[in-house]
Amino acid sequence: MEFATVNLRIPGPIPVPEDILAEMAHPMINHRGPEFKDMLFRITDGVKQVFETKGDVYTMTASGTGAMEATVVNTLSPGDKVLCVTVGSFGDRYGEIAERYGAEVTRLAFEWGEAADADRVREAVKQAKYKAVLVTHNETSTGVQNDLGALAKAIRSESDALILVDGVSSVASVPVRTDAWDLDVVATASQKGWMLPPGLAFVSFSKRAWKAHASSTMPRYYFDLSQYQHYFEIGQPPFTPGLSVYFALDKALKQLLDEGLGAVYERHASVAANVRRQVKALGLALFPVEAAASDTVTAVRVPEGVDGVKLLSAMRERGVVLAGGHEKLKGKIIRIG
Ligand SMILES: *Cc1c(COP(=O)(O)O)cnc(C)c1O
Repeated sequence: MEFATVNLRIPGPIPVPEDILAEMAHPMINHRGPEFKDMLFRITDGVKQVFETKGDVYTMTASGTGAMEATVVNTLSPGDKVLCVTVGSFGDRYGEIAERYGAEVTRLAFEWGEAADADRVREAVKQAKYKAVLVTHNETSTGVQNDLGALAKAIRSESDALILVDGVSSVASVPVRTDAWDLDVVATASQKGWMLPPGLAFVSFSKRAWKAHASSTMPRYYFDLSQYQHYFEIGQPPFTPGLSVYFALDKALKQLLDEGLGAVYERHASVAANVRRQVKALGLALFPVEAAASDTVTAVRVPEGVDGVKLLSAMRERGVVLAGGHEKLKGKIIRIG
């Protein structure tokens, strides 16, 4: 099938640089052989640098939602009290996953377009004893970037709850200081900040998370991190991995680390600031409050009287693919990755 060349500007999948994409053509190897072992160790070392952690990080063949599910089922038990801090549809999804596995979820929801308020989060964890707090770092549905460091600090000031993070659209694009912020489990996926096609997911796992894992009774099989840990010791994945994306990851990581994470973060911040400037110069308004605007996805209000769905298809016909709004924002915003 032939696709017309388009300028893909959705939050993810992102356009993959050609040299990274070319790595996907690498012939298959034995995933239980020595080449994979070398690659797995090298990649895990690089992924840990991106997460800024000395703790464990596992790579799974899954999408971001799979990684989010892994954060929940590896640490919690049915009946556990969980606080879900949500500022949009991915935050809501996080709470749903925990609920589906039997957790007792309390939602602390903020207006769409606003960031989570650290004082209200602190108050909530003071009011009740939670086993875990679920937080979205960058809410892709509204273009809002939470101040994750401040939220984690607020939680830690009142509670020793596990901090589980959806970092799907933040890790590798904006700073995520897993150890310094004392985050227990951070989930992310290849098709957003990593310059990769979809297919791989990454999950960090702290000592506190392993302690919780030992007594956690939620059902799990494919996402059971003790299997990933056990197999990692012999340099293997528990199951057949998406090898092609691994080859690409090997290259992408080298580029990210050669550029330097500080430079990568600055590049995203300056590109995003420029997008916001240009949007405003066109006379359009940002959807989120500007102080909370994301550096990985810019959400723009569709002007009154304009059909946002038609706008997107008109742009697509002209070769530019942007994303629309989720749920109640459908037709009301456009999002630029
Ligand atoms: C993209 C995204 C997800 C979902 O990832 P999938 O790979 O589609 O499962 C979850 N959370 C956030 C914040 C995202 O941006």
